[in-house]
Amino acid sequence: MTCIFFGKTDVGMKRNHNEDAFLTDPGLNFAVVADGMGGHAAGEVASELAVDRISSFLGQVKGNEDITWPYKYDIAFSLNANKLMVGIKLANDAILSKVAGDSKLNGMGTTIVAALFEGDNATIAHVGDSRAYLYRKNRLSLLTNDHSWVSEQVRRGLITEEQARVHPMKNVVTQALGGAERLSVEIDELPLKPGDLLLLCSDGLNSMVPGNVMEEVFAEYHQNPEELIDRLIHEANERGGDDNITVVVVREEP
Ligand code: CA
Repeated sequence: MTCIFFGKTDVGMKRNHNEDAFLTDPGLNFAVVADGMGGHAAGEVASELAVDRISSFLGQVKGNEDITWPYKYDIAFSLNANKLMVGIKLANDAILSKVAGDSKLNGMGTTIVAALFEGDNATIAHVGDSRAYLYRKNRLSLLTNDHSWVSEQVRRGLITEEQARVHPMKNVVTQALGGAERLSVEIDELPLKPGDLLLLCSDGLNSMVPGNVMEEVFAEYHQNPEELIDRLIHEANERGGDDNITVVVVREEP
């Protein structure tokens, strides 16, 4: 089976620049969304650097799997999971060394959610609060756990999902690329079925648009991913567009 990729980013209604970055690469069967943070345009630097570093590593290992890996291969995970984990670690290193060389970039970092497709399998890796969702048979389900303060409060039963979405601390992530040398990259793997849609997004989408509304938009526009993406961005902007909004949709073809 093959995948078709769609993606778009929007600055939103409140910010004057866009710190998100994304890439869809049908040649690598790869999609990624990164949400940068840090003042003086550093957020853009971090998110773009992460996207470039991961995709260049995937390009290097594609069809050349006996190259020496810069990090140890973890036999507990699949080859594609290892590719994403190593790519993300390299991106983390690249951000840390860029910060070390320029004090103006101090504090820059980025979240990441990346997906690699092979046959009818999707491997998803993430760090931070950028998300992946699966749309299948009229249901939109969240695949990732946010690495964020509010999400931990939800898991402990201290606040509800709805309270988390509007919480003043909603932007506090508990880990990000550029934060520290040690990262714990979370991996999800799932088999895809024809017609499935995989959504990757920055929190500028899901912090503005409730899950049930996202699901309704999918129900109406799932046949046309380009229009679907425009409608999702429109819904986020209609609700205030507080943050940059990035939406990637990958459709599994029959
Ligand atoms: Ca954001």
